[in-house]
Amino acid sequence: MGIAGKMAMDEFQIPRLKMVERLRDHYKIADHRVLAVMNAIPRHRFVPEALRSQAYKDNALPIAGGQTISQPFIVGRMTELLELKGTERVLEIGAGSGYQSAVLASLVRKVYAVERIEGLAQKAKEKLRELGIGNVSMRVSDGTNGWPVYAPFDAILVAAGGPEMPQPLLDQLEIGGRLVIPIGSDPKRQDLVRVTRTEKGLDQENCGPCAFVPLIGEHGWR
Ligand code: SAH
Repeated sequence: MGIAGKMAMDEFQIPRLKMVERLRDHYKIADHRVLAVMNAIPRHRFVPEALRSQAYKDNALPIAGGQTISQPFIVGRMTELLELKGTERVLEIGAGSGYQSAVLASLVRKVYAVERIEGLAQKAKEKLRELGIGNVSMRVSDGTNGWPVYAPFDAILVAAGGPEMPQPLLDQLEIGGRLVIPIGSDPKRQDLVRVTRTEKGLDQENCGPCAFVPLIGEHGWR
């Protein structure tokens, strides 16, 4: 049974459906697979106990370590921009709560997730295990260096904002692959950028302003 079958029934079914309708109707997320998966994954399981009732609201929420679980719209938008079909191997930088990892894992073959804060990675792993999501490998390290042994990746998603494009991530992108990353010279404000590797080089598109926590590391903020 797929994740949708396993998890459709819980006390947050109605707020979750409202969240997905808002993603579709207000935010114009059009990828049906992304919407279906976000309707199936229990986001409330990834937020701190005390904030559960807010899990399906239209904003980011604090998690441990001064970090945040991204706003549902941002998760939907970034995932949609990766144009996933189902067979991909995806690198995710900044796993945080593990919610985005769960969304990706339900859409692709395999997710390689990197998180720099050990406590967050541990908790995220635990949640994924509880939900029976078995196709995520997670490690604690500086994700600005990517995960070279498993490269190249069909898609790369970075959930924290850096001052420039980390070169190792560009190097680890398959031809035809997409990288979605917030880039900005202000540590708290960025533009969401999508890079596509083609036979000839790199195509870059600006997908609009956004606000992520800083990407901290060798090829990010120091
Ligand atoms: N998608 C996550 C977002 C978490 S916030 C969620 O929705 O829960 C961004 C995360 O990026 C934080 O957990 C932060 O610790 C992590 N991070 C920042 N710089 C990093 C780096 N260089 N490598 C790996 N993780 C990083």
